[in-house]
Amino acid sequence: MTLLDNRLAESFCVREDGLAAHVGNTPLLPLRRATFGLPQAVKVFAKAEWFNPSGSVKDRPALNIIQTALANGDLTSGKRLLDSTSGNMGIAYATFGAALGISVTLTIPASASPERFAILRALGAELILTDPTEGSDGAIVEARKLAIEKPDLYWYANQYNNPANWQAHYKTTGPEILEQTESRITHFVAGLGTSGTLMGTGKYLREQLPDVRIIAFQPDASFHGLEGLKHMPTAIKPGIYDESFADETLEVRTEEARAMTLRLAREEGLFVGISSGAAMVAALRVANKLKDGVIVTVFPDSGDKYLSDVPLWESPLPVGAALSLSKREG
Ligand code: PMP
Repeated sequence: MTLLDNRLAESFCVREDGLAAHVGNTPLLPLRRATFGLPQAVKVFAKAEWFNPSGSVKDRPALNIIQTALANGDLTSGKRLLDSTSGNMGIAYATFGAALGISVTLTIPASASPERFAILRALGAELILTDPTEGSDGAIVEARKLAIEKPDLYWYANQYNNPANWQAHYKTTGPEILEQTESRITHFVAGLGTSGTLMGTGKYLREQLPDVRIIAFQPDASFHGLEGLKHMPTAIKPGIYDESFADETLEVRTEEARAMTLRLAREEGLFVGISSGAAMVAALRVANKLKDGVIVTVFPDSGDKYLSDVPLWESPLPVGAALSLSKREG
């Protein structure tokens, strides 16, 4: 071994930065083709959150919730972390739980995608399935019940009411976007699930750039196909959500989000989940009204967890895509 090899080995061995050190600092990708027809001075970017270790935006709040609970002495050894999830938060808890030796119990609607169940089982999480017709609210009610019934067994992470959720975005997503856009962001667009992404990122950006517009979006109806998002008027309102916070709240239909998800795959090479398609619909709605501006949205996860949705991926090329291709070629 040379002296140099020795030094490299030493520096490698002392770096105990594990998975947690790789949460955040995700790429900010420009959308170039799905934005066809917008004025030159209007730019749209998306935070590619599937670059996080467990594959979604939820690594940020999951890690911060766990680290805060460990630091405060709330999550003591022998207790199981309990929470409700629509999938991604559970996968993030299960990932860091496995890495840190914390057992995880999740209440989850039985309608979550088979890919999510397979990943959660692979990571060793205990799953309690709830009524699919009650959506994410059914899982919340079940988690609350278990937390009350067995306080000695569970530490209830309560992502919908835990400030460490939005604070994760305040500490990381917001500063990253400010830096990556060199403070040129004019509009931030985010979907509402727990609302952590919108509230934390939006709060940071508004403090730094008081003129920035914060735009929320949600599904247009209580029954919808936008996994991870909530129709706030008919759902249990998350404690961390302030409905007066956003400058505007848009509604996105499941069908337009699905069509856009396919366009992102075929026109941008971005194989993302359906809430990312919804984010792009909302971002384009904002962009279409501008003459100039820098719009940033968040693509929460990749398409992997939706692969069993065969009708989505095997549709013919959407009309919009064919149009923009022929225009460019002409
Ligand atoms: N999209 C997906 C796929 C999600 O899993 C989530 C989290 N539930 C969101 C969007 C919304 O994020 P937030 O909880 O921060 O509002």
